[in-house]
Amino acid sequence: MNKVTMLHEGKAKKVWQTDDPDLIIQEFKDDATAFNNKKKGSIADKGVTNNAIASRLFTMLGENGIPTHFVSKLNDRDMLCKKLDIIMVEVVTRNVAAGSLVRRYGFTEGAVLKQPIVELYLKDDDLDDPLMNEAHAVELGLATHEELALLKELAEKINSLLVAWFAERKLRLVDFKLEFGRHKGEIFLGDEISPDTCRFWDAESGEKLDKDRFRLDLGGVEDAYSEVKKRVLEQ
Ligand code: UDP
Repeated sequence: MNKVTMLHEGKAKKVWQTDDPDLIIQEFKDDATAFNNKKKGSIADKGVTNNAIASRLFTMLGENGIPTHFVSKLNDRDMLCKKLDIIMVEVVTRNVAAGSLVRRYGFTEGAVLKQPIVELYLKDDDLDDPLMNEAHAVELGLATHEELALLKELAEKINSLLVAWFAERKLRLVDFKLEFGRHKGEIFLGDEISPDTCRFWDAESGEKLDKDRFRLDLGGVEDAYSEVKKRVLEQ
């Protein structure tokens, strides 16, 4: 499968059209950004690590009935995927209070939520990805009520699968962001699932093993990513 033209270069990935109109290649980069591009850097081998992690997770989710865009892992940095028409909504699911939940609503970091919270954000860097509700998303013409109900249902199902799967690997899934898209009239999970898009805390020590180490200058960023990779690829 060949990279024909670059369709898009994002913060963490390049997206390439292949010679098959229905398939794209996601090329994972080492570039890291935070706070909507205000902080920039690079994490050694992040692309290789995130491709390995996301490929394993998409495979597991696919085996459990979740429609994903994942086709195959081509090599260290390239993932072959169905070409999606991305829905410009970021779906964040939370199990434990952290990040903007703490900043916005005053939760104590680490407070366990009585039930998972699913939030919608407008995927628009110029507007700083604002939090929105279903009515905003429908009014903006991003998705229908039926589609948004499906996204919420999928996010909750994915959350249950991931929480259990990571618990077996001694990782607590605090929160994570998903993106979805349309392909031939159906909705698929797209983008990636990795320490860039999730918060993982070590189940025993509570140590942060995700992009917060980069965001908050905690050090040990590469080690944290490779520890997650090691546990994800273990079984
Ligand atoms: N997240 C992401 N991309 C974004 C915003 C958030 O992948 O543009 C992920 C983030 O890594 C975390 C979850 O979504 O796992 C919730 O992020 P939060 O709203 O707490 O924002 P943050 O504190 O990261 O600004």
